[in-house]
Amino acid sequence: MPGPSAANKLLRWYDKHQRQLPWRSNASGYETLVAETMLQQTQVKTVIPYYRRFLKAFPNFVALAQADESALLTCWSGLGYYRRARYLQQSAQEVITHYHGRLPTEADELRKLPGIGSYTANAIASIAFAKPVAVVDGNVKRVISRLHGIRDDVSRSKTLQKIEAVANEMLCRKRPGDFNQALMELGATLCSRSKPQCHCCPLQHDCVAYKKNLQEQIPKPQATRQTVALIGSGALVTSKQGKVLLIADAPKPLKRQGLLEIPVIWHKRERALMSHLKKQYGVTSKFIQPLGKVRHGVMHYRMQIDLFRLQAERLPRSQSHHRHLWLKPTEADQQPLSGLCHKVLKYL
Ligand code: SF4
Repeated sequence: MPGPSAANKLLRWYDKHQRQLPWRSNASGYETLVAETMLQQTQVKTVIPYYRRFLKAFPNFVALAQADESALLTCWSGLGYYRRARYLQQSAQEVITHYHGRLPTEADELRKLPGIGSYTANAIASIAFAKPVAVVDGNVKRVISRLHGIRDDVSRSKTLQKIEAVANEMLCRKRPGDFNQALMELGATLCSRSKPQCHCCPLQHDCVAYKKNLQEQIPKPQATRQTVALIGSGALVTSKQGKVLLIADAPKPLKRQGLLEIPVIWHKRERALMSHLKKQYGVTSKFIQPLGKVRHGVMHYRMQIDLFRLQAERLPRSQSHHRHLWLKPTEADQQPLSGLCHKVLKYL
């Protein structure tokens, strides 16, 4: 008699060991859309507090569609890849305008919404609406390549098609959402990139890589995009009234539409920083204190910023043409801030 299928073994394991995540209990289409969008490029543990805050601020499509951009970005502030927040809002607006306020349930329709690719469309269709479509993310690519001993480069579209075909074949049609989440969960927990924990894996007996001891060779390591190191100087400028200077015209790669940043210059030190502040924002200061180094990553940039505290002698009378604001720390907390800005304001 044949034993239980790999899908059944996987689901049994998932029922017992799945992580308790806020978007897993009876998630609606809206909640799944928010969670899946946040989870693109971001780790689960980072997403959890953002997800809770976001749902509190924008509990449904109407609230999100009508939100003003600044409130939206404030809520997303620190999560990175801000385009996702804008796409989410555009999707909410389309759902209201074209779909009578209800998220489409089929993956093909979901793909028509802004920022929703195949992966997210299939995840929403299967998790929120029990549609039998497989989801293939980085974790699933790794697990299936190992299970089936697929040694081809997983970044090639031909390999992806092969993996999608296997995932669709394995898919449990009665519980497609759970099956997809189980496969992703296995990749995120036991079947990790290095040192997978095969001894407690429910699919050990089905796994070609395990049987042939090829876990380290599969999937084939991919060439990673080279990181670019940037060194700069940043300023935490306060006024005598305790307000802090935040700018809206940060240099690349910090430039993010709608987000406030601290003043930063690249490759230069405090003298250049002081003259930059005077020229751009009319700020003069006799007091400059080094606060240490702040490290920050944006996309493939790795930045190291020497941070200085300055106290402005007085607020400039005329407004500079460079967009900037003087805000009390409590007011700054209510604004959409960049990730770097969040780190720096902790020095206040
Ligand atoms: S047996 Fe090991 S390599 Fe195979 S799927 Fe399980 S954890 Fe991954």
